[in-house]
Amino acid sequence: MTWQVEVSATDCIASGMCAALAPEHFVLEGEHAEPVASEIEPDEIVLDAADSCPVQAILVRDGDREVGPRP
Ligand code: SF4
Repeated sequence: MTWQVEVSATDCIASGMCAALAPEHFVLEGEHAEPVASEIEPDEIVLDAADSCPVQAILVRDGDREVGPRP
């Protein structure tokens, strides 16, 4: 199983929350964050980061299914 991780550069306000919480998965690049890898092995910390993003700019998918942020 592989998850796809995206950060919306439009929505991201560069709070740095995701990179602080999961530095192995997110990095701040200029004015927005980026996933370190767009395809990852499932990792709960990525969902925690998606949940913590103040503007819900992180989207985690398992194929067609959205797994993060959690409702
Ligand atoms: S937590 Fe959200 S707003 Fe903050 S840097 Fe990450 S993606 Fe951007």
